Amino acid sequence: MCPKLSRRLILGFAIFAAVFFFALLRFHPLLALGVLFLSHMLVLFPTLVANCQWWGPVVTSFETPRREIWLTIDDGPDPVHTPRMLELLARFEAKATFFTIGQKAADFPAEIERIRQAGHDIANHTFSHPSGNFWALPSGRIAAEIDRHPVRSSLFRAPAGLKNFFVHPVLVRREMRLVGWTVRGLDTVSRDPEAVAKRIRRGFKPGAIVLLHEGHRTAHAPDFHPRCLELTLTILAQEGYRCVLPAPEQLRPRAGEK
Ligand SMILES: [Zn+2]
Repeated sequence: MCPKLSRRLILGFAIFAAVFFFALLRFHPLLALGVLFLSHMLVLFPTLVANCQWWGPVVTSFETPRREIWLTIDDGPDPVHTPRMLELLARFEAKATFFTIGQKAADFPAEIERIRQAGHDIANHTFSHPSGNFWALPSGRIAAEIDRHPVRSSLFRAPAGLKNFFVHPVLVRREMRLVGWTVRGLDTVSRDPEAVAKRIRRGFKPGAIVLLHEGHRTAHAPDFHPRCLELTLTILAQEGYRCVLPAPEQLRPRAGEK
């Protein structure tokens, strides 16, 4: 279903459900509650399910006839990890997009410069990465999270991929696109780089968007994220894939990705 239509249907049903609830509560309380519950679920589902397109388009892959992958690295820059990630990318002749946190970009401008100098892309992953409540923020707070980022980009990724009803209109006004992923290694929860790479491998296909992270557990496991990247790049190279930065016209929203 086209996102514009699904947006209208969900909002229309929410209004209908509210009216229905108050009109029928006295006569059919269970039915009234059931309809209200259903409308809440319809609002929460596209908000809390990453890559769901019901609120608006989410880029989940890109058009290519070749064995090409778009590698994306979230949550940096980080003075411990970013230099190591860049070294690995250079060794494998791979390009990546760094979805950076604005506060960290402001704190570590040298790392931002290194990323840029190496020919990678830098995109917006909010200013403060409010992963706990981004999905519940009102329009003004979402706009501020995007606008306070010191790097201009046309690409945005929501924290944990959660986006509410307000996110798309804010992005459209800025000519920005919401980017999701095809496959992620769950490297912020896993402790095993092999398991992360194995999970990502299952999602390899031409035009896939791979999601990895940096900047976590730098104190007690500083090698973890670089190792995940190294293993992923090794497998990609073995299978004849190149990591590229797709052009804007190659990006496409598509439902049903992992
Ligand atoms: Zn993140």
